[in-house]
Amino acid sequence: MRSVIQDPRLKTQEAKESRRAGEPEGRFSGFLVFWLSLLACVLCLVSSSVVAEDSTPLRVLDAGGEEIASLEVLEIQEVKYVLLGEVKELFSGTAKYERLIGRVTVTMRGRKIILTLGQHQLKIDGEEYVLSNPPTSISGKVAVPLDFLTEILPNVIGKRIKLDQSQGWILQLSREPFVKKDELEADSHTIPELVSGGFRVIIDPGHGGYDVGAKSKDGLLLEGDLTLKIGQRMRKLLAAEEGVDVYLTRSADKYMTTAERVNFANKLRGHVYLSIHFNWSPSQRSRGFRVYVNSNRMRLGTGSDLEANIFSRVKPASSELSEAKRFLSQSKRLAGEVTNRLRSEGLTGEEDKEAFLAVMDNLSMPGVLVELLYLSNPQDLIILSRPDFIDSVSQVLCDSILAFRADLEL
Ligand SMILES: [Zn+2]
Repeated sequence: MRSVIQDPRLKTQEAKESRRAGEPEGRFSGFLVFWLSLLACVLCLVSSSVVAEDSTPLRVLDAGGEEIASLEVLEIQEVKYVLLGEVKELFSGTAKYERLIGRVTVTMRGRKIILTLGQHQLKIDGEEYVLSNPPTSISGKVAVPLDFLTEILPNVIGKRIKLDQSQGWILQLSREPFVKKDELEADSHTIPELVSGGFRVIIDPGHGGYDVGAKSKDGLLLEGDLTLKIGQRMRKLLAAEEGVDVYLTRSADKYMTTAERVNFANKLRGHVYLSIHFNWSPSQRSRGFRVYVNSNRMRLGTGSDLEANIFSRVKPASSELSEAKRFLSQSKRLAGEVTNRLRSEGLTGEEDKEAFLAVMDNLSMPGVLVELLYLSNPQDLIILSRPDFIDSVSQVLCDSILAFRADLEL
């Protein structure tokens, strides 16, 4: 059975809607207002089912497996929330809710969390974090999405917290210390603060998670693994360079949408973006690297060896092209560096025509996509199986980026 809680906020919104809708003047306006009011009432009844208490509460287990509390789970439009008041009590914190500005200050374990209703961003001792969904008010009480428990609280209590859905809803507190995920990861829900003012390089290891990308015939080599290895190696190499800040769109085997990658890069206000991929073709003869820049020119007659998700077949609206155009000449410069350096280290390949790259749509910085080798080509596989290939190719790509930076500074 699902008990139902009336959400006054939704009611008010509907009342506003109906007021707005009731504005038209004329002799029918009274009649209209009557019917609209009736409609609004019906909508109110419907909306009351929008906020529902989940039938199963969230059981909280301590590190020894002992149940120490049970939290109410509420749902609005398929997003699950818990009440901040209950969470605060569980961890013996205090909270101050400034209703007029929608700001909540929670003090817990000597740390201060500041969140605002309707805003994804929150701060822990001044450091910014991002929630999947903004905190909201349900029946006048502040509610936070479930990732507040698993992604935010561990930073405060210093211990890992796991959410397990296999046997009902269980929140498992842990003795294991919480090791803060690398701040540079896009998937850690944190936005690193831009303090150093260095040259910001964003490396995008293509694919990840269930999207493994291209595969070698024997299934042993996966594009998503290779790109991640190169990304991680590049991060190490570039981090050692003075005045360079390097960020990976993903530093784990995790699926990310194109938009998430680009948003991450844009939020960081990167100076350059390099997306790493490997190629595949039904023709075993296709081999070598391909370097692409984002451009407003639509790619025509795409070969079957190109990954469908990278190249959009649809010509984008002209407004969407402006960003790409802005950085086109710089992107071409980087593409030239990458091409020349890969060639001088013995790889064959080419700098391809400009394409409209869906992976770099809306990217607000110069960007290049490189397909390093064909996982479908026997000769390319021999190159790839060399023990130092990952290290060497990472070095070549880093050198290209550093040369690009030096060129910009001239
Ligand atoms: Zn790919």
